Amino acid sequence: MSHSPILILGGTFDPIHFGHLKPALETLDAIGYAQLLLVPAARPPHRRAPLATAEQRLAMARLAADTDKRIEVDDRELHRQGPSWTIDTLQSFRKQWPQRPLALLIGEDSLHQFSTWKHWQDIPQLAHIVAMHRPGEQRSLPQWASKRAIQNPEILKKQPAGRFFFVKVSPNPVSATTLRARLRRGEDVSGMIPDKVIDYIQQNQLYRGKHE
Ligand code: ATP
Repeated sequence: MSHSPILILGGTFDPIHFGHLKPALETLDAIGYAQLLLVPAARPPHRRAPLATAEQRLAMARLAADTDKRIEVDDRELHRQGPSWTIDTLQSFRKQWPQRPLALLIGEDSLHQFSTWKHWQDIPQLAHIVAMHRPGEQRSLPQWASKRAIQNPEILKKQPAGRFFFVKVSPNPVSATTLRARLRRGEDVSGMIPDKVIDYIQQNQLYRGKHE
């Protein structure tokens, strides 16, 4: 299976939640991929510093991965210095797997911010881009995406990179920001975050009473 395609989901995962996991697993089915790789960002460049440390966010991603055998976690962004640029991560994957189909999964909000990412124009040469619907967002595709867009996801398995696919997953209105606010106030988050991750958050007192 060493040439089987991989769907890559990078994120801050502060904390990881079902708004990441459910649409990502639905995407696997929709595009016929068998493996989802979660890549926690050590130092996300475009936002304020996370509340949980990179090691804690990695640990939560690993606990979430235990819930489904299709999910794995890659910790390479924690082994680099400086901001966690996606371009660097994808270059590193490409070096490891020169011909393997890779697809970068992004939420619809990230789709519209994509052109602010470092060396964003080079990213589609390294991986396909798959955007998943996110509630609250509904704008037309940016030009870089529409010119690469395909309707039939089969191509995502045949070519290593270069295409854009918009996947209509079931809307899931959860965000890490609203979950941190609930956890800060000590409110229930069951059903929004995997149980093992909730236990970890409680054991490590990650968000309770912590202001951003
Ligand atoms: P925050 O609220 O802290 O910004 P987030 O959950 O939006 O957190 P990340 O953890 O960085 O952000 O998300 C990683 C990726 O998952 C991003 O591309 C984001 O767009 C996407 N994503 C997050 N939540 C959802 C959701 N509910 N539906 C679809 N995509 C999502």
